[in-house]
Amino acid sequence: MALLKIVEYPDTRLKGLAQPVARIDREIRQLADDMAETMYDAPGIGLAAPQVAAGQRLIVVDVSDGRNELLTLINPEIIEKSGEEEMKEGCLSVPGVLETVRRADRVKVRAQDVSGKTLELEADGLLAVCLQHEIDHLNGVLFVDHLSRLKQNLIRRKAEKRMRQHG
Ligand code: ZN
Repeated sequence: MALLKIVEYPDTRLKGLAQPVARIDREIRQLADDMAETMYDAPGIGLAAPQVAAGQRLIVVDVSDGRNELLTLINPEIIEKSGEEEMKEGCLSVPGVLETVRRADRVKVRAQDVSGKTLELEADGLLAVCLQHEIDHLNGVLFVDHLSRLKQNLIRRKAEKRMRQHG
């Protein structure tokens, strides 16, 4: 296992469309393990492959208090959503920013697990929000993209300033 470097906004690698995982092999399982370790270390409740500069459709999520309910989802897609809710979100790729985002409050997600089995998962509340946030990453969408243009500009300026300071 290894800790991976998290790509930070406004890095353009966060804007790409991640490719479907065609074959679930040792490399993909290794990437999933490393992503989980990186997420727990950060600490965060979710991480998508583009955040570690891997352009594949793979996410890891754990919203449990005990940090022992890891979900590794390959090629996840939202097949149903309903309701609406607002929650404060942050992102490991946008450090220091917490903003309220409006999303669906229930989702049904179809994905494959690390053994290649197709599964369907229904979620609400925090898990639903986290899944939408992480699946957005696979489509090059960040939570800041859901905010007003004014807020996006402020966050971008702050991020660019931080990058200048820290290289
Ligand atoms: Zn994120």
